[in-house]
Amino acid sequence: MPRSRQAESVKSERRRAVLGEAWSTANYRLNRDLLYHYVQLTGVRCWHCGKHMPRDDFTIEHKVNWLNHPEGKRLFSDPDNITFSHSLCNTENSSAQDRRNRIPHNIKYEGE
Ligand SMILES: [Zn+2]
Repeated sequence: MPRSRQAESVKSERRRAVLGEAWSTANYRLNRDLLYHYVQLTGVRCWHCGKHMPRDDFTIEHKVNWLNHPEGKRLFSDPDNITFSHSLCNTENSSAQDRRNRIPHNIKYEGE
């Protein structure tokens, strides 16, 4: 094994020994915890229901669904398009928005 790869392996093993898990797992959780901490400092409540969000029920949500939007790439990472919500509130809203996006508003269907 090349010397630099061996050093990385030792570093990785040391990290795992100290953290008790993979560094990437611990780092992901740290980033989520920091985000939650700072969001709580701002007093932000759930985008949909307006209630407090506990750490274990806190999701990042896009105000405008980016997936089927012509400007989806920009909307995905636009900070002005980001908000926070409970996971259930987020899921229910995404499903409703997906249903609305599938049917163009200018098309008439039988019975309308
Ligand atoms: Zn909610």
